[in-house]
Amino acid sequence: MFPLILNARDFDFCWTVRRRRYWRTCRRKYFFYDYGARGGNEADAPRETRELYAAKKRMMLEEYIRRVLNLSMREIFSRPNDDEEAIPVPTLAETALRRAEMEFTGMLEGTSPVTILELTRSDADLAAVHGRMKERLVQIATALERSGWGFFRNVPFADRRYPATPLEVFIAELKCVIAPLFAVRRAVDLWLVEGAGHADDGDEIAVLGKFAAAKLWNAPPDRVRSFIFPEDGAENFLEIGSDADVSEVLRGIRCDVDGMLSRIRDDGTIRESDFPADRSACGTCVFASFCRGREGIR
Ligand code: SF4
Repeated sequence: MFPLILNARDFDFCWTVRRRRYWRTCRRKYFFYDYGARGGNEADAPRETRELYAAKKRMMLEEYIRRVLNLSMREIFSRPNDDEEAIPVPTLAETALRRAEMEFTGMLEGTSPVTILELTRSDADLAAVHGRMKERLVQIATALERSGWGFFRNVPFADRRYPATPLEVFIAELKCVIAPLFAVRRAVDLWLVEGAGHADDGDEIAVLGKFAAAKLWNAPPDRVRSFIFPEDGAENFLEIGSDADVSEVLRGIRCDVDGMLSRIRDDGTIRESDFPADRSACGTCVFASFCRGREGIR
């Protein structure tokens, strides 16, 4: 078994919240996700690359639920204006369940873009995972309807905005990517709304959101605000980054990027052995079984 060695020329570098999180928790995970899995969907890819690609598509159940709810809120928010008064707006629980049921079938058939990690275990209880998925989806969707989402679902068509997601934001030559679900015009303000689970990265998301809104809608930075949904949907949506120091945030991003790029060797190679494993973060890692088999790789 040999360490994976890749070429930086084959990768388009960008900064993302997820990428930084992996960089700061386990560099080996960062390497697997951002480099090692690339090309693993091709039939003639090496076995390791295919395994990493399959692992990259796995998600913990709670993470999967957040994904479905985020996509469902975006779907409902993006509904057309035609006869809006006459068409009842679907509930979040209905939309999310429909999407999850379709994907669950795809997970079992191997055609879904993502898979719940527990389903890939040899002793997986499919019915139990399916039941838990539905129960949590309905629980959080119902809580969201009563709190933050209940407000956004009723925003009039004229005030809805649809940024691309993922959304590229350039800070000089550096590409950064954020993923707002949607945006809302509120009098003279512009609100960008992110999904759940990003509270720790609120300052970065809010600052990049200001750059994005200036480019997309010519919005002055002091009129752009960013919000997220709480993870369990129980409380109202939260504002993030309202006190962020823009220079400080940009310095932090630049510092991450310098560190990440410094791992590319002078000959242009990116080597697994240059990304140390941090075993304190293995409990929820989708690469755990692959990684165990790589112990001893230097
Ligand atoms: S299993 Fe642990 S050491 Fe290996 S990549 Fe995941 S977090 Fe890092």
